[in-house]
Order: sequence, then structure tokens, then C-alpha cells
Amino acid sequence: MSRKIAIFDTTLRDGEQSPGSSMNTEEKLIVARQLVRLGVDVIEAGFPASSPGDFRSVQEIGQLAGEDCTVAAFTRAVTEDIDRAAEALVTAKKPRIVTGLGVSEVHLKDKLRMTEDEGLERIASCVKHARSLVDDVEFYAEDAGRADLDYLVCAVQTAVDAGATVINLADTTGFCLPDEWGEKVRTVAKRVTGIENVTLSVHVHDDLGLATALSLAGIRAGATPVECTINGLGERAGNASLEEVVMAIRMHESLLDAHTDIKTTELMRASRLVSRITGMTVQANKAIVGANAFAHSSGIHQDGVLKSRATYEIIDPAEVGAVGSEIILSARSGRAALRHRLTDLGYSFDDKDFEDIYELFLEMADQKKEVYDEDLESIIQERERDVTAVYTLNALQIQCGDPLVPTAVATITDELGVKHVVSATGTGPMDASYKAIDRVVAVHGDLTEFAVKAITRGIDAIGEVTVRVTADDGMVYVGRGSDNDIIVSAAKAYVNAINRMIQTSRSRSGR
Ligand code: MN
Repeated sequence: MSRKIAIFDTTLRDGEQSPGSSMNTEEKLIVARQLVRLGVDVIEAGFPASSPGDFRSVQEIGQLAGEDCTVAAFTRAVTEDIDRAAEALVTAKKPRIVTGLGVSEVHLKDKLRMTEDEGLERIASCVKHARSLVDDVEFYAEDAGRADLDYLVCAVQTAVDAGATVINLADTTGFCLPDEWGEKVRTVAKRVTGIENVTLSVHVHDDLGLATALSLAGIRAGATPVECTINGLGERAGNASLEEVVMAIRMHESLLDAHTDIKTTELMRASRLVSRITGMTVQANKAIVGANAFAHSSGIHQDGVLKSRATYEIIDPAEVGAVGSEIILSARSGRAALRHRLTDLGYSFDDKDFEDIYELFLEMADQKKEVYDEDLESIIQERERDVTAVYTLNALQIQCGDPLVPTAVATITDELGVKHVVSATGTGPMDASYKAIDRVVAVHGDLTEFAVKAITRGIDAIGEVTVRVTADDGMVYVGRGSDNDIIVSAAKAYVNAINRMIQTSRSRSGR
């Protein structure tokens, strides 16, 4: 039997840190459910000390994850962080505290303002403290890629001696070349006493587009878990992409003497779900999950693929779930069929919520006859947005054309239940609607990005608008809205971004 490579998913922690990708607790739970279906071994659920919202996410994901999946909580090497993490992890069957420190000169000197010895002392005390609270403690050596090798070995030795169960070497800045990184991992493994009793893992970033190669170099050097994210989401250029690492291992199992337990047919759904929730579009030519990953357009390629798929295709699209199940519901499908489909998609609702969704489903089925999986997901997400909303857009009436002055009349309900009817003119219908909305909402944001996408097929498709709004403090909020009418989608997306802005500032302050 080959080595099992455990997949440690950090979409909900490192991934969520990428600008504009923040998710609320409900959204994180949806992603976590899909991660469980994928069969990941560890879910890093958040950074409990960073906000009450993150604390709650870790708690709730701990409840949902069950016996087979470890739930990890991120901390800095700070006692209070570690205490908070342990509190949040009480619900988890297999809890892990992740703690660590920058080990490169620039991190120690400029960020942490510590000497090398102070760094080692801090590592020892924090790992020990974490071990007094849970049995499974991961020490991460941040920026190990640029760290001095001798100091890195000392730091890892200190963590192992203090009781760490997992050692994670991080090329935090994605700086190394794959060979060099592999050699570093191998040397640490060789020089640290007792490393055979702990799990050695790697965590890398994609700053030079090398994240997958670095992860594989780590595996060849003896690392068994790999830390990664769906769609390679993450700080700057992102983390190693889960789907790429998993499929690369799968294509080369014997050479790498390695396998994963990931259910690859769930990869595409995971990718779409994370993209939809975060508003981070996947580039069409992205490996494994891009829209063109299995498209052949040149004549020579098409000819080859028609004769034998293997000529230009190394992966069967069905293997990564790129071929849809094509179960289409209609108004005649009934409750049982809808419930069955929702269960297959990973959702479970109590009777009252289900009735709500059934009503929305019927409304949609009346309008567009054929309801696809993507439609159902948009119904569910749209409804969740409404439930948690501070402001709700009830109605929007637009007048535009040439030579009319574009005018919008919006009806908006605030969280106290007060209805506001406002109107505004603008340079176009969108501008007029946004100005009308601005008359009611109490916060201000600048629209920095606007994207329209047909999320379902056909001319009667639902149009989804994703907007990015930058608040005065520089934070970016993604808003989404979907409707058959694209201007209404745009207005809903804007209101959604405003709601998220307000909710985030409340969740940070603990309200
Ligand atoms: Mn990272």
C-alpha cells in the first residue's frame, strides 16, 4: 500500500484571508459540508481569536465534522490565541490547535522583533501550553522557505521536544524552487531527532506559480499531509490548489508512492461552490476545474480526441465531476424529488425551511420551466442572504431609455421593519438604483468591481451580479445578487455587499 497523503484544507482560514473573500458563518458551514463530502482529512476552520464570527465558525464546524475529519484552529504563538482556540474546539471530535512563528530573519527581526533565542523560547512555551489543552498540536514554521537552515532545524527540534504532533514547514511567500524546497524538507527530517514520531507536512503559496510543484517536492521529500485550498484561494497569489495537488498525486501514484482519500468526483462542485460564495471567479484555463480544462478547440486536437480521448486528455472529465449529473427538475417534480436533489447536493433543511424553498422553487419553475442544480443553489443562497440581511430590497422600479433621464424608485426595509421608498436619477439605470439605495443605507462604500454572469443555461437564465465594494477603511466586501432581471440583480448585489459590510463590523465588535 502506498503512503497516504492527508489533505489539510485551509480554504476557510488562509483562503478566506484573501482580499474580498471573507465568508460569514453560514457560508463557511456550506463550504465545510462540501469539504466533508470531498473527504478531506483536516479542515482548518478559522482563527478563533480574530473575531467572534470566526470563533463561532470553528465551533459549528467542529460540531459538523464528525469522527473522520480533524478540525483545526489557527493561532499565533500567543497564549490568549491558544486559549481561545481550545475553547472553540470543544465541540470537535478530533480537535487540533495550529500554532507557530515566523522563523526567517526578516520575520523574527522586523515582524516579531525577537532574537533567535526568544523565538525558540516562545515556540517551546506555546507548543507546551497548547498540548496541555488538546492532544493534537501542529507547529508551523512560517517563512521556512527563506529561513536559515540551521535555525529552522533548531526551531523544529524545539517544537518536537515540546510535544508537537505535527510539524508544518511553510514556504509562506512561495519563494523557493521545487528542488531546493524538497532538499530543505529532507534535511529537516534528517537532522531533527524524533521526527519519525511526528507528522511532517508542507504549506506553500503560489507567488511564482509553483505551489503545486512545491507541494509535490514536499511529498517526495517525505511530507505526508499537504495544506491547500479549493481553487488555490489565499493570500496574494494564493495557496497550493487542492484540486491540482490531488489530481497530480492521482496521476502519478506509483512514482510518488502516494495516494489520497479524496473523492475526486466532488472536486468540480467544490470549486464552483467556493467560487460562487467568495465571488472569486476561476480563470477559464485553470488546471482541473477551469471552464476550458477539458475543452478542445483546434482542428488537430479535436480530430485526435474524436479518434481517442487519450491523445490530448490525461484526465477523464467525469473523474473530477466536470460532467454534470444533468438531473433537471420542473414544476411537476414535487416535494420528494426536490428534497432528494437537495440532499444529493449536500443540503438538509427542517420542514419549515424546506417549505420556503419549495415555494421559491415553484416560482422559479413557473418562470423558466427547467431547474438545474445551479438554479437550486442560487435559490438557497439568495434566501440565506435575505434571512441575515440588515437591509432588504423589496422592489425596484426603473425608467430608462433615450432620451429619458434614468430614474430608479426603490423600496427598502431596514432591520427594524421600517419601509423606505426612495428615488434618484443617474447617468444610467444602475447608477440611479445605487444612488437611490445610498439614500437609505447608513454606511458608505465605493464600487470597485462589477461582474455579470449567467449562472444557468438558456436565454431565460438567471443573471448573477457580483460586486466588490471598498469601505472607507480599505476593506473589500463582495456582494452577490441574482434575478431574471439584471438591473435587479445588480441592486440586490449592492445591498448584499452593504449588509456584509455592516455584519462584519458588528461581528468584529462582538455584536
Ligand atoms: Mn499561508
